[in-house]
Amino acid sequence: MTVGPEPLMRMRLRVEQDIFVVRQLGREVAREVGLDQQDQTRLATALSEVGRVVMADGSDADVTFDVRLDGVSTAIQVAVTRPLSDRGPRLSEELAHVGRLVDKLEVEHGETGTVVWMARRLPASAPPLTPDRMDEIRAGLSRHVPSSPIDELHVQNQQLIAALDEVRSQRDDLARLNAELEETNRGVMALYHQLSEELEETNRGVVALYAELDEKSEQLAAASEAKSRFLANVSHELRAPVTAVIGLSRLLADGASDPLTDEQGEQVGLIRTTAGDLLTLVNDLLDLAKAEAGRLEPNWEQVDLRTMFGQLRGTLRPLATRPEVDFRIDEPAVGSMRTDEVLLTRVLRNLLTNALKFTAEGEVRLAVRETGGDLEFTVTDTGTGIPPELHERIFEEFYQVPGSKALSGKGTGLGLPYARRLAGILGGGLRADSTPGEGSTFTLRLPAS
Ligand code: ADP
Repeated sequence: MTVGPEPLMRMRLRVEQDIFVVRQLGREVAREVGLDQQDQTRLATALSEVGRVVMADGSDADVTFDVRLDGVSTAIQVAVTRPLSDRGPRLSEELAHVGRLVDKLEVEHGETGTVVWMARRLPASAPPLTPDRMDEIRAGLSRHVPSSPIDELHVQNQQLIAALDEVRSQRDDLARLNAELEETNRGVMALYHQLSEELEETNRGVVALYAELDEKSEQLAAASEAKSRFLANVSHELRAPVTAVIGLSRLLADGASDPLTDEQGEQVGLIRTTAGDLLTLVNDLLDLAKAEAGRLEPNWEQVDLRTMFGQLRGTLRPLATRPEVDFRIDEPAVGSMRTDEVLLTRVLRNLLTNALKFTAEGEVRLAVRETGGDLEFTVTDTGTGIPPELHERIFEEFYQVPGSKALSGKGTGLGLPYARRLAGILGGGLRADSTPGEGSTFTLRLPAS
């Protein structure tokens, strides 16, 4: 859409001198509508070049300047019209280089003649072209007095010098930027080399460290294996003589043998109790050594938890002698699971025995529930409790909480490490939560299937 019914300016090209005039006018119009210096030169040069080409065969041409709005931007538009001729089709080729000076250049062959359309968009910062402003520009242009070709040549030369200066300064800027870029690249490369050397060095260190670690863990595994083998052998060898001592002391105390004096009876009793304690220790050691040596192969089968809980209730009830302690084995909330029944029973019996040993009043309770795809067995008591900093230490071999006194029986300090070992063999884990004076909860977590 053009602004106003009238074009901005019209002129006719008849003689060669008119090309200088149209060039001046083009620059003038470009300045008035708000194009910058460079764009003014571009439009003026494009116009004089189009004028030169269309008049080359001596024909006249009409030039119309107008302003176009396309909804998004405003552009100055120039139409150069000349009568049709057989040069028409070649015009587009001859004007191809002019297209680089403007945003649009089109050649149209109509009934009335050939029209060369050119357009250059105005910058967003250009002042708005209201109808009043357009009238003002029209009036200004109509007063325009063309200067001589020599003056126009002078202006052109000045524009050329300015353009050359600008090109040189841009070339200098480019050279400076290139130098800076090169410098930065060198810096980046140096940094990269330094980093990759450091990385290589670190990698070498890590590899060496891993090799050392592997060697150490092999040594550790060998030492642990040797320890377990030694424990297993010694405890196995000890079992026979200790059992013999127990048998012999029982024989001595038997009524069928020669009667003993009171003093002798007491001493034989002492021998028997001590040998009994020793046998417990030897058995516990043997169990632990076997578990540690990886010689325990679980026998996986579907285990009915209800039956298993019933058996635990039966075997442990005789230990729960204190009437102040409520011994509760809940009906299992889960019917069955895939595990090793013997090993699982050992862990739970161990935890329940401990709970009964350290609980004077309140309750000792076993429960099981499903949680996140696992089964959680909890043995809870209201006994003496364990200080928080010892919750992990009690799983170390032979460790017993200082000052803790079992209400019944003596311990070896091997029960919990053994239970945790078995939990691991069954694919799960065992942990303790406890508050001194309030009680403890031991949680055995095993995969449900
Ligand atoms: P033991 O019971 O033979 O001494 P354990 O390895 O089973 O050995 O337990 C180690 C120690 O942890 C116990 O000596 C005791 O001090 C503490 N302990 C274990 N279970 C409980 C519990 N339910 N309440 C309080 N203390 C406990």
